Amino acid sequence: MSESSTPIESAEDEHRRVAGISAPDLLSEARRLDAADPLAHHLDAFADAPGVAAYLDGNSLGRPLRDLPEKVGTFIREDWGTRLIRSWDEQWMALPMQLGDRIAEVALGAAAGQTVVADSTSVLLYKLMRAAVAARPGRDEIVIEAGNFPTDRFIAAGVAKETGATLRWVEPDEVAGVTASDVAAVVSERTALVVLSHVDYRSGALADMPAITSVVHDAGALMLWDLCHSVGVVPMQLDEWGVDLAVGCTYKYLNGGPGSPAFAYLRAEHHGAVTQPIHGWWSASDIFAMGPEYAPVGGIRQLLSGTPPVMSMLAMQGMLDLIADAGMPAVRAKSISLTDFAVRAYDELLAPLGVRLLTTRDAAHRGGHITIGHDSFQQVTQRLWAEGIIPDFRFPDGIRLGLSPLSTSHEETLRGVLAVRDALTA
Ligand SMILES: *Cc1c(COP(=O)(O)O)cnc(C)c1O
Repeated sequence: MSESSTPIESAEDEHRRVAGISAPDLLSEARRLDAADPLAHHLDAFADAPGVAAYLDGNSLGRPLRDLPEKVGTFIREDWGTRLIRSWDEQWMALPMQLGDRIAEVALGAAAGQTVVADSTSVLLYKLMRAAVAARPGRDEIVIEAGNFPTDRFIAAGVAKETGATLRWVEPDEVAGVTASDVAAVVSERTALVVLSHVDYRSGALADMPAITSVVHDAGALMLWDLCHSVGVVPMQLDEWGVDLAVGCTYKYLNGGPGSPAFAYLRAEHHGAVTQPIHGWWSASDIFAMGPEYAPVGGIRQLLSGTPPVMSMLAMQGMLDLIADAGMPAVRAKSISLTDFAVRAYDELLAPLGVRLLTTRDAAHRGGHITIGHDSFQQVTQRLWAEGIIPDFRFPDGIRLGLSPLSTSHEETLRGVLAVRDALTA
C-alpha cells in the first residue's frame, strides 16, 4: 500500500499524533526498518484501499494486486469473450496442473506433477483424508490436533465415521504448538493418518514439519499437512522432507481472492496407489471418452473431480509472480522482521495494559501472524474496523495481527498496535 493510500490523515498529522502518544522510538524504528526493507518496492503493487489505515488481516484474505482489474478485463474480453470455448483446449484444461506446478515451485519446495489447484481446502481435505485412510488398510486411527481449524477436525470426524476409524487427539501447549514428541506419544501401529497444520491459525505456532513427518513415517502412517497459514509466508521443502499429502488455501498469503480454489499435493510415489473418492470425469483417464465406466488417470490430475473455477484462478497468478520475484527466503526474512517488530510494539504499548501475548517470542517457531488476548477485544475489534484498522478477531478474546510480508510495512504494523492501545485507553 502506498503512503498516499491512507488518507485518514496526512503523514505530518499522523506523525504528530503517533509521536504525541509517546511512541517516537517505535515510530523511528519502524521507519528505519521500512527504509532498509529490500522488498519495500512491492508495497505499491497492491490496490489502494481508501479509508484503510492498517490492513492486518492478510492471513485471512490477501489484498488484490493493483493490476488485477485490467487482467480480469482482458480475460473477459479475450480469453473468454473472443476465444470462447476454444480456450478450454488452448489453455484452461491444463491450468489446474500448471498453476499447481507454479505454487509447488515458488512456495512448496516440490517438483512438478504433484500439485493441483481445485475445490476448496475443505473438499480437498476430505478427498485426501479418505484416500490416505484407504491406502493404510488394517489401520483404524486418524490423529489430529484438538485445536486444529474447525473444518479440519469436522472433516476428520466425518471421514472417521464413514470408514469406521477412530480419532485420536493431540493436545499440545497452546502457545508452543504441536511438537514431534507430542506426536510420537500418540502414533502407533494403528495410525493410518496424521493431520496437522504447519502454522496454527490461532497462535501462529510453526510446527517442525521434517521432524514430525519422520515420526509419523516411523509409525508406518501417512502425513497430511494443512498449509493454509504457511504457504507463501514460510518456506518449506515438501519433497525433501518426505511429506505424503498436503492442502492449502490460495486466498490467504497467495492473494487469490475470496473463494479462490485450494491446492493439493500428493507425493509422486503415491500416484496410482492412492485414489480419492469423488470420481468425477476430470479425474478419468480420458476426460472425453464418455465411456460407461470410470477409470482413474494415473497422475496428479486424479485429484480433480469437476470443471475448475478458471476465473477464480486469475488473481493468485500475479501474487505468485511477486513471491517468485522476491524469493521465499526474503519473504520469510521480512515476515520475521514484521512479527519481531509487532512483539516489540506489544511489549512497550500493550503489555502494560494487561494484554497477553498468545504467540511464541521465538521467531524460528512462529509463522506470519501474532495473536494477542484481552477480555475486551471483541468490542475493540468492532471499534478498530470502524476506524479503518483491520485486524481479525478470534473467539473468545484474541486479536490476530496478520502481517502479509509483501503488502505490509512496519509503520502500518505500528499503526495497528497503536490503535489497539488507543482503543484500550479511550
Ligand atoms: C483458512 C483455513 C481453512 C479454510 O478452508 P475452506 O475450505 O477454504 O473454507 C481450512 N483449514 C485451515 C487450517 C485454514 O486456516
